[in-house]
Amino acid sequence: MKIAQVETYILSHHLNGSFFFSQWSYSERRICIVKITTDDGLVGWGEGYGPADIIQSGIKHLTPNLIGKNPIQNETLWFDLYRKSLDFARRGVLTASISALDIALWDIKGKYLNLPVSVLLGGQLRKRVVPYATGLYFSKENCLPKRLAEEARDYVKQGFRAIKMKVGLSIEKDIQHIKHVRNAIGDTPLMIDANHAYSLREALQLAKMAEPYNISWFEEPVSPEYYHQYKQLREKTSIPIAGGECEYLRFGFYELLKNNCLDILQLDICASGGLTEAKRIATLASTFGVEIVPHTWGTGIAFHAALHFIANLEPTPGRLYPPDFYIEYDRTENAIREQLTRPSLLMENGYINIPQSPGLGIEVNEKALHEFRVTHTSKVYKGSKQI
Ligand code: CA
Repeated sequence: MKIAQVETYILSHHLNGSFFFSQWSYSERRICIVKITTDDGLVGWGEGYGPADIIQSGIKHLTPNLIGKNPIQNETLWFDLYRKSLDFARRGVLTASISALDIALWDIKGKYLNLPVSVLLGGQLRKRVVPYATGLYFSKENCLPKRLAEEARDYVKQGFRAIKMKVGLSIEKDIQHIKHVRNAIGDTPLMIDANHAYSLREALQLAKMAEPYNISWFEEPVSPEYYHQYKQLREKTSIPIAGGECEYLRFGFYELLKNNCLDILQLDICASGGLTEAKRIATLASTFGVEIVPHTWGTGIAFHAALHFIANLEPTPGRLYPPDFYIEYDRTENAIREQLTRPSLLMENGYINIPQSPGLGIEVNEKALHEFRVTHTSKVYKGSKQI
């Protein structure tokens, strides 16, 4: 079996209402996905996290290294792609392009071997995970605290067992929002995410003021460049510190881990090196006893890659009744996430089941693909039969 064709799609959805967080606002969801087809007609899907047009260029640049190769030997292909990127992009968007291709190869491998990706990764340590609602972004409303409280209450009504809210507007406003949301949701676990809006001094001040509100973790409190600030903050607050969505490859995560920056490591599978590298990062994290809750954003492809990865994660530490594992479930407006893949995600009693069908366990809805598509490129292997 050979890789016969690599196609990329940029999908776009203009939002009905824009929303913002500490760094910028969203009025469009724009995502690059990749489809790899083999000479015997198997199809695998992957997704990159980051600027879609640059990820698409990266995939186009890397594709000649894949065409005609055996997709089952995905780890050797990962190494080839990594070596081709090493001199120019040891971190960053080209790694997201590799990630997208890597996820598609795992999907093909699973379909070829008739096994779910989680089983290929080594097995399913759990059959279900707890999605936590990511939402509670900012909007230009006069009554923002009231709206955030209503949104949070609605997540609890929908059955979510944990909720993450944005902070990073100002310490004063953040605390006001946290107070309103906590009052609205009772004892439901609540996380806060600053998207690295703060200096160490500000982050520490916010952490101290937020401690009485029983915060499950404080995500990206400071800039991802300042490993030493993560460490200092972590030593001075009782709130667990989370981060890692801006980090790449095992080499980057080693810096976070050896500097004792984190309680919760949040790699993004679609950016940090795909499932192949995610497995290695998880092994590395296990040597430091740090738990993992991946950063997950984008379509059902990214979500399913995360579902399979989490199914295989070892609990840190192991015990007879380990706690449930979280998966991040973005609840902001995104028609692509809702319509691109089938089956639709189903939350039952606050849980989502790990898919048991081969590969990632999804089909891409061709109608939605064409509806959201803004560009499409493809590269076909000339030495193989045309598909
Ligand atoms: Ca985040």
